[in-house]
Amino acid sequence: MRIGIDIGGSHIQVGLIDEFGNILAKKEKDILKEDKLEIQNKIEETIIKNILEIIEEQKINILDVKFIGIAFPASFRNGEIGLSVNLGANGELLRKNIQTHFSIPVYIRNDAKCAAICEKKYGSLKYYSDCIFLTIGTGIGGAAFVDNKLFKSPNMDKFKVGHITIQKDGLKCRCGKKGCFENYASITALKRNVTKEFNIEKEITGKELYDFIIKNENNEKMNIIINNYIESLSVGISNLINLFEPDAISIGGSFVYYKDIFLERLKLKIQQNNLLYKDNIPEILLAKFKNDAGMIGASQIEN
Ligand SMILES: [Zn+2]
Repeated sequence: MRIGIDIGGSHIQVGLIDEFGNILAKKEKDILKEDKLEIQNKIEETIIKNILEIIEEQKINILDVKFIGIAFPASFRNGEIGLSVNLGANGELLRKNIQTHFSIPVYIRNDAKCAAICEKKYGSLKYYSDCIFLTIGTGIGGAAFVDNKLFKSPNMDKFKVGHITIQKDGLKCRCGKKGCFENYASITALKRNVTKEFNIEKEITGKELYDFIIKNENNEKMNIIINNYIESLSVGISNLINLFEPDAISIGGSFVYYKDIFLERLKLKIQQNNLLYKDNIPEILLAKFKNDAGMIGASQIEN
């Protein structure tokens, strides 16, 4: 048995998971606005409390747990997970404190990499040896698998796909560069373009954005936004196809909610953009696991 944990921007999931990726027990807690003032302590307390509850309810001993794996929204470099700017929390400190508390190994990795591991082992990419997983939501993250192995080194997670350049002299990115993929093809970018063009409230929820796009799907302005979005997404994906020559690409994150509007258009655009592989375009799939992918993947990251 393992414990898998996913720490998102607004939500913490803690699960007891077997070696085959099955969830045996699960606890979830929202991160509230007031929690964010002392986010580090809140995350730590929540994890410890939930693990103790699961152990008690399942009538097991912590020593029955092989390790604790954490999916965390930051990069893994030089053997350590970095600070999460969005969350305002220190992943390495969290890992150390949880390990000290329970005295069993605690591993921590980038959240998109964990979701990719879940999709590769148990989900949409299970039967593909060379494949790519992309999570498209607030930003764009993901991972590549070459010959069934995650493309990484022991101390680096690699594949910063959200920051490949798709537009020369393009929009300024939070990373400091211009024209990054996620500035054009994330759901955040889509939201920015829709709210700006239609002059509506910028702080709308994902559901409100989706409803607004559906309602205005046949509007000419909306059509231009959608076409530009698909074009940007296909440029980034085409670059990945040429680099990795995958058999399949699976997309997760909030993008999956838009499948009816985007998926067929995206497939067509990728076909048009890929002159090199016109007869052999990889399968474009959607992730099988939704909110549990990070937690399940985190429970399978033994290094
Ligand atoms: Zn960037």
